[in-house]
Amino acid sequence: MKKWVYPFGEVAEAEKYAGSWEGVRSLLGGKGAGLFDMTRAGVPVPPGFTVTTEACNEFRKTGKFPAGQWEQQVAAMKKVEKATGKKFGDPKNPLLVSCRSGAKFSMPGMMNTVLNIGLNDQVVEGLTGLTGNPRFAWDSYRRLIEMFGTTVFNLDDEVFEHPMAEYKASKGYKLDTEMTAEDWQALVGTFKDIFKQQVGFDFPQDVYKQLELATKAVFESWNGKRAIAYRKKEGISDDLGTAVNIVTMVFGNMGDDSGTGVAFTRNPSTGDKKMMGEYLLNAQGEDVVAGIRNAEPIVNLEKEMPRAYKQFMQITNRLEKHYKDLQDVEFTIERGKLWMLQTRNGKRTAKAAVKVAVDMANEGLITKEQAVLRVTPEVVDALLHPQFDESAMSDAEKNGTFFAKGVNASPGAAVGQIYFDADKAEHMAKEEKQDVIMVRPFTKPDDVHGMIASQGVLTSEGGATSHAAVVARQFGIPCVVGASAIKIDLERRQMAVGGTVIKEGDWISVDGTTGRVFVGKMPTIAPSLEEQTELLTLLTWADEICARKNMREAPAKGYPTRGLQVWANADYPKDARRARSYGAVGIGLCRTEHMFFEPERLPIVQRMILAETSEGRTEALNELLPYQRKDFDGLFEAMDGYPVIIRLIDPPLHEFMPDEEKLLEEVITMRVKGESNGLKEKEDLLVAIKGMHESNPMMGMRGVRLSIYMPEIVEMQVRAIFEAAADCTLRGIVVKPEVMIPLTGTVKELEWIQPRLERIAAAVMQEKKVKFEYKFGTMIEIPRAAVTAAEVAERAQFFSFGTNDLTQMTYGYSRDDAERNFLITYQEQGILERNPFQTLDRTGVGKLMDWAISEGRKTRPSLEVGICGEHGGDPSSIEWCHIIGNNYVSCSPFRVPIARLAAAHAALKHRPNGKNGKVAVVKKKAVAKRPAKKTTKATAARKK
Ligand code: PEP
Ligand code: MG
Repeated sequence: MKKWVYPFGEVAEAEKYAGSWEGVRSLLGGKGAGLFDMTRAGVPVPPGFTVTTEACNEFRKTGKFPAGQWEQQVAAMKKVEKATGKKFGDPKNPLLVSCRSGAKFSMPGMMNTVLNIGLNDQVVEGLTGLTGNPRFAWDSYRRLIEMFGTTVFNLDDEVFEHPMAEYKASKGYKLDTEMTAEDWQALVGTFKDIFKQQVGFDFPQDVYKQLELATKAVFESWNGKRAIAYRKKEGISDDLGTAVNIVTMVFGNMGDDSGTGVAFTRNPSTGDKKMMGEYLLNAQGEDVVAGIRNAEPIVNLEKEMPRAYKQFMQITNRLEKHYKDLQDVEFTIERGKLWMLQTRNGKRTAKAAVKVAVDMANEGLITKEQAVLRVTPEVVDALLHPQFDESAMSDAEKNGTFFAKGVNASPGAAVGQIYFDADKAEHMAKEEKQDVIMVRPFTKPDDVHGMIASQGVLTSEGGATSHAAVVARQFGIPCVVGASAIKIDLERRQMAVGGTVIKEGDWISVDGTTGRVFVGKMPTIAPSLEEQTELLTLLTWADEICARKNMREAPAKGYPTRGLQVWANADYPKDARRARSYGAVGIGLCRTEHMFFEPERLPIVQRMILAETSEGRTEALNELLPYQRKDFDGLFEAMDGYPVIIRLIDPPLHEFMPDEEKLLEEVITMRVKGESNGLKEKEDLLVAIKGMHESNPMMGMRGVRLSIYMPEIVEMQVRAIFEAAADCTLRGIVVKPEVMIPLTGTVKELEWIQPRLERIAAAVMQEKKVKFEYKFGTMIEIPRAAVTAAEVAERAQFFSFGTNDLTQMTYGYSRDDAERNFLITYQEQGILERNPFQTLDRTGVGKLMDWAISEGRKTRPSLEVGICGEHGGDPSSIEWCHIIGNNYVSCSPFRVPIARLAAAHAALKHRPNGKNGKVAVVKKKAVAKRPAKKTTKATAARKK
């Protein structure tokens, strides 16, 4: 008979069956695996057992428990009875259990949990006698009926909440704590009536029936709306299923020597190595998580229960060492005895993710490689997100736009229009395309869709571990909770602090980093990488990993055995400086045509295009040359010592001309009005533009074709490049210019143009009497160039994959229109898994690249290969570039840090077995700030 149920002690059996710890996590879920592991480690865990995810998946297929499951569950209950000395359903000595969901990957609050199973009309009396605490017994019973109704039978919370509020009002109570045993008992009667009326039968008195229904409800909650939406957002597979954990109930509400709480072993917002958590005396777990009652900070427990606190600190310390990660724990103290209910790797902010990883590596708990692998490229992205400008914030405090302050639950700046419920927030964000801030007194799992759609979240209640805080942190949504000065009026759809009233649809600014909220829109600024020392340290480790030898197999001479370098696409010196400060070690693409669009240059460019003779064209180009020389000079200076790839003119000439339709309109208007002044010039211009018209301009007169048709432009550009490089060399700057010819389709094109350009290069060097390294190479953007790469490499000293065009031409999708027209539908219909303009299509475009590299290097083993399309900053595409043997990836300066991390991930993931050593020891000084020049081991190694 297949084993569907594992008692907590049977971790060895589970490991044997599942084959690995990863397998155990799949079988028993993350929470279950944690309980088994804690039991094994001797941590005080209440006895219990887990029903496997395999049972859940069988149940999802047939709607029934698989054969043997129930019998095994009953047998496991008997073992729990033995371990606790209590009996399920026995009024004299009752055992109560909870029934909790637990998938492989944590899905906080997305699935069902039922507490206090095992109570009925007799057991509640027994429990009263046993504990001498009738208030607790009747409160527990009413909670069970309520949870059964809402989670097992999907009744609205309101069905129970409303009569309870009415009851409290009739007694003149404000708080639940004012309810007496008699009050709870009366309410149990009411709840049972409601249950029968709503569900159609009596609340089940058979405790095993309760257990069966609760187990089914947890299985079914895997396919609940909330859970499905969460999985979609988190990329968790729908096939995994959830395990069910049946755990002996321990009670935090047994009086003032009892309590319950949640805690993180390090601060999940900042990453600081300091326990952060909250607890409530005389309460049950959901009171803390829901943030409805204000909890005490965990340090206060030391005074109230010193023994339990000491034991708690020792256990959590042990757990962190065991799991080598920040732990998120739940605990209960029952009459002075501490029980650990759960431990899992805690969700954390991007900032905390980096700090915890770096700190733990420095503490020797994990290796530097593990630290690098722990931080995802998305985390780095979040850290480079906008923040509010400090001075704008202090101005706001002075000029009265400060509104309220709460707990800084999830960092980052959010500006948006406020909406008071999740559905409306989602609607306004998705349908009306508004930037939305969702405002609630507190949030519940039902609100998650609204939170995800929002730029920011604000609540007036709850603390740092409330639902709103946990969910927002996980999704990187700026969030302020517990801003208690705010009075929210849900009926009138407004909120107020004193006399300041903000209505639904009004703008506010929420600073999740400091917890402050402002009226109106506040300007944001990009964060500075230089100040993020832990991130800089981590990126330095990432660089060191990539710079190590033997990170890749070298199938032929000249192939890189180190990991990828990260270069940047930058057109202007200021971009190049930013790229360098972000850690780029080269410029992979400078699009020279952008310089032609500057206002003082465009008229000269247009004159050059309209010139009827070569002389006329050269005259205009001679005017442009000093501008271009200056541009290149600035780039070389900014990238002193590093390669700079300058691409010769690429776009079709009509892009530099006025819009045809607008010009036609102007000509017609002048003709109608009889204005002759300037009409002739406009008419001539119109004729010229019409002459340039192409049906398919992206396939037309552009790139190398334009250079062959009109060589004067690129001749001027090459002269400007080499004059600038020569001038810089004379000033002591180390230049490494690489001239890139775009849109090559056949080597014959290079054979035609390249020697002319090389002659200019040589001439300038002779004129200026200097020598420096340089290369001529090409972009691989046309499938034919990739296919014939062996020939192309006879001329080209380097390849750079222009994957924007290569994707366009391989798929035959217009890069300008595809997204607008059909690409989204293609993704929705599953025809395309991802947008191939964002993430490289490995099987098609990627294969062409792979082929081009190996063919190219057959001709020229030292061929330098890069990528400069948008994919150069996308982690999955970067991984592919590592696999196929690129030397570097080039991306926008802002994505350079993400690419550095992604390159290290690729290197670690694909390293050849056992060929590399440990990450080089990084001296404290070197890691504190990334040096601007090539002084560290890492940057020196990159240059090799
Ligand atoms: C490319 O095609 O990928 C590329 C980098 O060139 P552009 O985007 O300028 O066409
Ligand atoms: Mg291109």
